[in-house]
Amino acid sequence: MRIAVVHKDRCHPRKCGTECIIYCPRVRTGDETVVIGEEGKAVISEELCVGCGICVKKCPFEALDIVSLPEELENPAHRYSQNGFALYGLPIPVEGKVTGILGPNGIGKSTAVKILSGQLKPNLGLFEREIDWEEILKKYAGTELFDYLQTISQKKLKVAVKPQYIDYIPRVFSGSPRDLLKSTDERGVLSSYIGALNIAPILDHEISTLSGGELQRVAIAACLAREADFYFLDEITPFLDIYQRMAAANLIRELALRRPIVIVEHDLAILDMLADTVHVAYGKPAVFGVITQPKGVRIGINQYLEGYLPEENVRFRDHPVLFDKRAHAGGTERLTLFEFPPMTKRFDHFTLEVSGGSIKAGEVLGVLGANGIGKSTFAGLLAGVLEPDGGPIETTVRVSYKPQYVKAPGSDTVEFYLRSCTTTFDTSLYQHDIIEPLTLRPLLQAPLDTLSGGELQRVAIAACLSRPADLFILDEPSAHLDVEQRVKITRMFRHHVDGREAAILVIDHDIYLVDMISERILVFDGEPGVHGQAIGPFDMREGMNRFLSRLGITFRRDKTGRPRINKPESYLDREQRANGEYYYYTDREAAE
Ligand code: ADP
Ligand code: ADP
Ligand code: MG
Repeated sequence: MRIAVVHKDRCHPRKCGTECIIYCPRVRTGDETVVIGEEGKAVISEELCVGCGICVKKCPFEALDIVSLPEELENPAHRYSQNGFALYGLPIPVEGKVTGILGPNGIGKSTAVKILSGQLKPNLGLFEREIDWEEILKKYAGTELFDYLQTISQKKLKVAVKPQYIDYIPRVFSGSPRDLLKSTDERGVLSSYIGALNIAPILDHEISTLSGGELQRVAIAACLAREADFYFLDEITPFLDIYQRMAAANLIRELALRRPIVIVEHDLAILDMLADTVHVAYGKPAVFGVITQPKGVRIGINQYLEGYLPEENVRFRDHPVLFDKRAHAGGTERLTLFEFPPMTKRFDHFTLEVSGGSIKAGEVLGVLGANGIGKSTFAGLLAGVLEPDGGPIETTVRVSYKPQYVKAPGSDTVEFYLRSCTTTFDTSLYQHDIIEPLTLRPLLQAPLDTLSGGELQRVAIAACLSRPADLFILDEPSAHLDVEQRVKITRMFRHHVDGREAAILVIDHDIYLVDMISERILVFDGEPGVHGQAIGPFDMREGMNRFLSRLGITFRRDKTGRPRINKPESYLDREQRANGEYYYYTDREAAE
């Protein structure tokens, strides 16, 4: 079975030579395999198409996709239209459990949730005509979803949603978090959420002035405070530090005892402690998505990292993602790129102290620390946008900086913008090292101000690495990237500076990402919002231990070597804390 998808936003028959029609071998022999439809966009007949893929290659706007589907797939649960996105399978919300969906952006997760909440009636792929519920229920007879779908056929379920992108909230709501939260507190739980998520200090601020991390916590509280039949949270971690991630995860687990919860989360250490089961979602983003049967969370995550789903017999990545049980060595033979001096930066209410240190040529240096502890301030000092007390740092090192909160830099196209950052855009090296790993090709003609948060993040990462510089600082590059994209940037970052007189500093809260990406770690300690201290850089083992001992979080290893957060006060947690082994194991074997 094969499907053809036309990405309508990228199909512009008036601006191209209708290559999809001209070059189609079936059209040449007289069939109407590709035509320009009533909407003025290409329409491909899946019955007539032979899947040669010539139109896909010839289209100048990357508007077409033709893919062969895995054989086992039967009818989709939903297809938006002819040549539209197709969704196979649905997740099942379960009473008393947190159900995770693990997969890339654009794979149909929101579509599935619209179906489960009764907002979207699944059409079983038969988009030409109206389908009635009788037909849908017949299709699902004998499956686990039957009862659930029967309920939605009778009434709409009330679903409380925490959307992926929260930046729209200030556009639709003006007032304070207090006003917003009061209006959603249907369960009378507000005061406990305000405490647990530390919202009190910003309760009376104007919503539009909140930082991304503050807004995220307000949005989570607003969703969980509602009275609903099920709860859907699309990514809870962007802009939160590890402490806040765990606090949010605990609230969700608490609510899950009473109500079904479905979540999408790309920070796998958090997903692992948060979900009971996961549905893996795979396919091709914006073309088709398959949602598997539920798997136990440990097994599901491991299969995802392996890139192979044994039950489905599907390989979706040609290499596994592996973790080292021992702290990886490296960096010892590297030359110093940048020696930063001890320095102090005082603001009215906050002081940052930096003990001096060095950044080595060719290394990726991870930075760990709570929010509000001075990481961005430190980045600003290195970049020369801020001056330390007592005068500027003397250096010739050029810094390129990607801030934590990325805004569209105007309305030019992505290609125009990237060309303004580099003179090497047209080289195959640039295409191979920057455009490909970030999958930017389909976005090149899009105006910057139309990009989603995840797309904008990828463009901002590209722009940062494109500028001529010796030190690249990326503040939370993982925000809104899915797991596949996180895996790709770890390789890309290492490759970008390896063997060069340059280094990368990555500030991030996804502990797996920091583990995979870094050679050494710089740790920020102190009291958020009051004072911070930058210490290190340390080797991986010492850096992780210093950071995690402050948080009191230990990780054990499963059979595959993947780190998993220990339950606080569990036997392993206590033992590891006593031994000072927070993350890496020295000589003991895996615990599970
Ligand atoms: P995810 O939540 O996994 O990021 P979505 O369910 O939002 O994915 O979208 C999956 C695909 O379906 C996207 O390619 C999107 O373009 C397409 N899509 C979403 N909503 C519609 C719609 N109303 N009409 C047509 N296509 C849609
Ligand atoms: P992090 O990046 O670790 O989250 P920041 O460096 O952004 O932390 O901020 C640390 C503290 O410094 C915060 O309390 C913040 O309010 C304060 N701060 C940052 N920039 C300024 C500034 N320009 N003026 C006054 N206070 C600031
Ligand atoms: Mg910051």
